[in-house]
Amino acid sequence: MLYQRSSQLFAEAIKVIPGGVNSPVRAFKAVGGTPVFIKEAKGAYLYDEDDNRLIDYINSWGPMILGHAYEPVVDAVIERAKKGTSFGTPTALETKIAALAVNMVPNIDKIRFVNSGTEACMSAIRLARGYTKRDKIIKFAGCYHGHSDSFLIQAGSGAVTFGTPNSPGVTQGTAQDTLLANYNDLDNVAALFKANPNGIAAIIIEPVAGNMGCIPPAEGFLKGLRQLCDANGTLLIFDEVMTGFRLAKGGTQELFDVKADIVTFGKVIGGGLPVGAFAGRNEIMDYLAPLGSVYQAGTLSGNPLAMAAGFEMLKALNDDITVYERLAQKTAYLEQGIREKLNAANVVYTINRIGSMISVHFDATPVTDFKTAANGDNATFKKFFHGLLEEGVYIAPSAYETWFITDALTYDDLDYTIQAVGKVAKTL
Ligand SMILES: *Cc1c(COP(=O)(O)O)cnc(C)c1O
Repeated sequence: MLYQRSSQLFAEAIKVIPGGVNSPVRAFKAVGGTPVFIKEAKGAYLYDEDDNRLIDYINSWGPMILGHAYEPVVDAVIERAKKGTSFGTPTALETKIAALAVNMVPNIDKIRFVNSGTEACMSAIRLARGYTKRDKIIKFAGCYHGHSDSFLIQAGSGAVTFGTPNSPGVTQGTAQDTLLANYNDLDNVAALFKANPNGIAAIIIEPVAGNMGCIPPAEGFLKGLRQLCDANGTLLIFDEVMTGFRLAKGGTQELFDVKADIVTFGKVIGGGLPVGAFAGRNEIMDYLAPLGSVYQAGTLSGNPLAMAAGFEMLKALNDDITVYERLAQKTAYLEQGIREKLNAANVVYTINRIGSMISVHFDATPVTDFKTAANGDNATFKKFFHGLLEEGVYIAPSAYETWFITDALTYDDLDYTIQAVGKVAKTL
C-alpha cells in the first residue's frame, strides 16, 4: 500500500506540532515509520489520505464500539449544533444522560461530566483525598489513568515505597504520594497498607487492565482489594475509562460483582466526542462543589454536542444489550482464528482476551502484570504491525495496547483479518 500523502502530511505536521501529533502514541515511534493520516471513516473502516481502506481495530482507542460515523450519534450532533454549541449554563440534556448512566451502572447515585478520562481520574483522586482527608494513593504499575502528575509514576526495581516520576515536570512532592503496586498481587497491596500507618486515601485501578495489553484481574483480586479498602477506610476507584459501557452495560462492577466507591469514565461515554465523567454514591459525590468543599469545574463540561453524542451512544447500548454477547462472540472468533494462524507458523505468543478487548503478546509466558507484559518481543511486534498495515489491517502501533472490537465488524472482515495474520505470521 502507498502512504505517500500521509508521509507528506506528517512532514508538514512536525514543523508546527511537537512530534507531529497531539497525543504521543499516534506517532508510530514504537514501531517505526510515519503515522497514517485519516480522512474519514465509516463503520469498521478507516479511509486514509492516500485512499487506502483500513479495517480498524483501534476505533479511536475505544469509543467507536458501534462503528465509525454511527448515524444516531452523528444526527444528534448535527441537530444540536444548529441550536448553539455551548451555553455555560445547565441544560436538560445533561440530566438526561446523567439519569441514563446512573441507571445503567450499578452502585452510583450521581455522576459529574468532564472533558476527558484524564480529568475524570484526576478529579476522582482529589475527591477521594478530600473525603478521606488523606494524601496517599495506590496505583498499579502498567495501569494508565491519564497524564495528570499523580499518575505518571513508573515502577522502580524491587519493592517501591515512594514513587519516582517517570516524566520530567512531575515533582518529587507529588510522586511521593503515589504508591506503586504490582497488578494481580494482593500481598503487595497489603504490604503497602502496613507500611503506611497514616492511611491511604484511595486505590485506583483499571479493573480490567487495558494499557499494558489486555490483562484481566486474577480470580479474587478485585474482591481482595475491596476487602483491604474496607478494612482500612480507603476508597476503591475503578478507572473504567476504557472498560465502562464496553465490557458490560454496567462495566466491570457488573461483570465481576465488585462494588467500587468511585468510578471514572471516558471513551465510549462520549460516543467519539471529548467526554469524561466520575460517579459514586451520594455520600461521596456530595463532597463536590457547589454542595461540598472539593473544588472541580469546567467551562465546557457537559457541552451540549458532547452530551448529545454520549446520550445516543449509551441509549443504543442500553436498548440492545445483546450487543455485548455479539461483541464477545466476534472477538472470540478472531482470537481462535489468530491462534490457528500463529500456531501454524510456529510463532511464540500469548493472547489475552475479555469481551471485546484482546491483545497479542509475542512471548510464551502468561501476561498477568506489567513485568510479564514487558517481556514481549518488540521486534516481532513491529513486523507484525507493519505486515498487517500492508494488508490493510490497522492495529494499535504499540505492543502495550489493546485491540478494540466494534460491532460494525462483519465475519467477512474478521476472516480477512485472520487470513492477513496468516500471511504475516509466515514472515515473523
Ligand atoms: C484512555 C484512558 C484514560 C485517559 O483518558 P483521556 O480521555 O485520554 O484523557 C484514563 N484511564 C484509562 C483506563 C484509559 O484507558
